[in-house]
Amino acid sequence: MKLASLAAGGVLLRDVPSWALPQSKTETAGQSMRVVILGAGLAGLAAGWELNQGGHEIVILEAQTHPGGRVHTIREGLSDDMYAEAGAGRIPNTHTVTREWVKYFNLELEPFWPTGGADVALLKGERVLTPAGKSVDMSQVPLNLTPEERRIGLANFDEHYYGATMRKIGDGIRQDWPPEIMALADISMADYLRQQGASEDAISYMVLGFQDDAALDFMRDANSHHTESLAKIQGGNDQLPRAFAAKLSSQIRYGCAVEHIQRDKSSIRITYRQEGLQDQVDADAVVCAIPFGVLRTIAVTPEWSPAKRHAIHSLSYGPVVRATYQVNRRYWQDGGENGFGTSDKNFEVWHPTYGKPGTRGLLQAYVYEKYAHHLDQMDESARLEELILDMDAVHPGLRPHLETVVMKSWMNDPWQRGAYTNYYVGEQKLYPDVCRREDRIWFAGEHASPWPGWMQGAIYSGIKTAKEISEISQKNPG
Ligand SMILES: Cc1cc2nc3c(=O)[nH]c(=O)nc-3n(C[C@H](O)[C@H](O)[C@H](O)COP(=O)(O)OP(=O)(O)OC[C@H]3O[C@@H](n4cnc5c(N)ncnc54)[C@H](O)[C@@H]3O)c2cc1C
Repeated sequence: MKLASLAAGGVLLRDVPSWALPQSKTETAGQSMRVVILGAGLAGLAAGWELNQGGHEIVILEAQTHPGGRVHTIREGLSDDMYAEAGAGRIPNTHTVTREWVKYFNLELEPFWPTGGADVALLKGERVLTPAGKSVDMSQVPLNLTPEERRIGLANFDEHYYGATMRKIGDGIRQDWPPEIMALADISMADYLRQQGASEDAISYMVLGFQDDAALDFMRDANSHHTESLAKIQGGNDQLPRAFAAKLSSQIRYGCAVEHIQRDKSSIRITYRQEGLQDQVDADAVVCAIPFGVLRTIAVTPEWSPAKRHAIHSLSYGPVVRATYQVNRRYWQDGGENGFGTSDKNFEVWHPTYGKPGTRGLLQAYVYEKYAHHLDQMDESARLEELILDMDAVHPGLRPHLETVVMKSWMNDPWQRGAYTNYYVGEQKLYPDVCRREDRIWFAGEHASPWPGWMQGAIYSGIKTAKEISEISQKNPG
């Protein structure tokens, strides 16, 4: 997800319900149901795991040949067993749900941020180097800032301009916000910061491309993670969905693209295509864990209710392009740089091989919003050229060391159609209709959770829907 709050410490999540954690086990005294789950991303997998625990019969239909959806570790095309994340990269220390599931599957976490070397911030074409964990030297910062902003320093902007409001918003698990907080759904983060007196350069620095995000969404997201303590899974984040999938292997049908949902009050028929042939499966209940960007292209009979249809067709997904550059040596370390940083062209720079043995290395550009849109519209070679120039501006000297570039556009992925849900100005009101079930069809996924854009949201929503289905089955004892 976006790294909105560069310095402000998030608050710990309010009580995450224990049922979202692995130790809970559903007891089904009720009727065992046949539940078909659409999509084997973390939401579908978590729902499957929970329904299995409850003794229900499940079938998971997944269009791709592997589980995990947007948790996708790139290995193909890279040498020396190196890997990098195309999707979910970071696990904040506040994300209890994700961390507990990582622990349950005996996966190890390792720090995401380096503790040594210098980060680079590319600001108005100038490289500003800051030792990891230290504050930026303001005398080097070429931004047009107010005297007050110069005094407090870049690292304290977030706390200064929106720390108190962010804490009032909380982590989003309960959405019973008072009217003055709900009003923040109808103003952009950039305009909110303007109202607080921030200079234009300070605003650009804080929002990092997310200027059209609603202030409520931006601050809620900033609050749900603590950017000073981020981790990743040793060996690649895709091990988390793969661990879920290993427990459900015989129930997952890969290469099965859902094409039609036919529903009535008592049963549902799902039509899918596998190796060119259509097939069908009937269900007592369905968990739809497909992103809305794809769901809006799937036929449904009878049509969704007007409110649901509006939500499915209106929900916004942010564009993201991840470019992974393989180099023959980690040349940026010659100057004491650690390979991490930001560019005011609206991308972050990561170094996935930081702390790993070997000579070869990887750098990544994590490009979002308008700049990602721009890249999505270019042809392959022009896009590649622009991305090489961009990375070279942050870490000069790239080209002679460059061996290969692996690119991933989430907007162009036919099974995703975007990176993650962004609630832009005026869109928060869609949320209840995004989550609301339609007869026997439940909706799970990061979009239908209090933490859009995070693995934690996907897992939580999957388990929540499974619990709700189990509760209904208990009211109908078998
Ligand atoms: C660029 C990026 C950065 C991110 N950064 C972070 C981060 O740092 N930390 C973090 O915790 N999270 C991060 N996330 C978010 C996290 O990856 C998602 O919130 C989570 O993986 C979403 O899971 P999901 O199950 O809701 O959806 P998905 O993972 O999208 O799963 C949906 C599944 O449905 C399948 N599908 C689609 N259409 C069909 C069809 N017609 N028939 C059958 N199957 C279909 C797809 O193939 C997919 O497997 C990031 C995501 C992206 C893209």
